[in-house]
Amino acid sequence: MELPLFITFAPSSPARPGISLGIEELSPDSTMKILIDNGHGLNTPGKRSPDGKFIEAIYNREIARRIVADLQDRGYDAELLVPEEKDISLKERVRRVNAACSATPSCPAPTGHPNVILISIHVNAAGDGTQWMNATGWSCYTCKGQTQSDKLADCLCQTAIKNFPGRRIRTDYSDRDPDWEEDFYLLRKSHCVAVLSENFFMDNRSDLEYLQSRSGMQSIIDTHVEGIVEYIDSL
Ligand SMILES: [Zn+2]
Repeated sequence: MELPLFITFAPSSPARPGISLGIEELSPDSTMKILIDNGHGLNTPGKRSPDGKFIEAIYNREIARRIVADLQDRGYDAELLVPEEKDISLKERVRRVNAACSATPSCPAPTGHPNVILISIHVNAAGDGTQWMNATGWSCYTCKGQTQSDKLADCLCQTAIKNFPGRRIRTDYSDRDPDWEEDFYLLRKSHCVAVLSENFFMDNRSDLEYLQSRSGMQSIIDTHVEGIVEYIDSL
């Protein structure tokens, strides 16, 4: 079933850290800063479904906002990298990420990376937006080479496999891990663990229906939240 993009689902728990829940307190890693990027702005040209009804920037914003809210409810220090509606340049996005990195103490050796996670949320497209295509599935990307980011990508891929049953998870095991490696500016220039997720294809009819369904949207949010929590717990 197709749902309007701005629909608000049941509100998440209002509980915040420090408020007694009457149950065992959550104990997340309080030093980890989690930045969620929404990819594009409302003024970014293109980036929509062939029928023009699905706009990636709007969808990414809703997903990013709900990932941040869920993580905050669990007691994590999560925030939107781009609260603005308009497009923010990649250079400025990187500046914000690296400002957070320099303001946050690093993990102890041997990893030594800053205690910052960046995930950039996107929806994929196989064509130029004028026609429906056949490519389908979920994937995530890191920068080239084996880095700490591959560990976060592994966690996201594992939760994706669990949360998207019957849907294609696009993997690339040529370098022995499931994520794809690309020279994306945001990933390459950020001084932290950084992953970009491509959440299905907006120019594939079946993927688009899933993206806009209540269960599809929730599974995308859960995949990011659970993958991040699993990664932090593994440190
Ligand atoms: Zn995108």
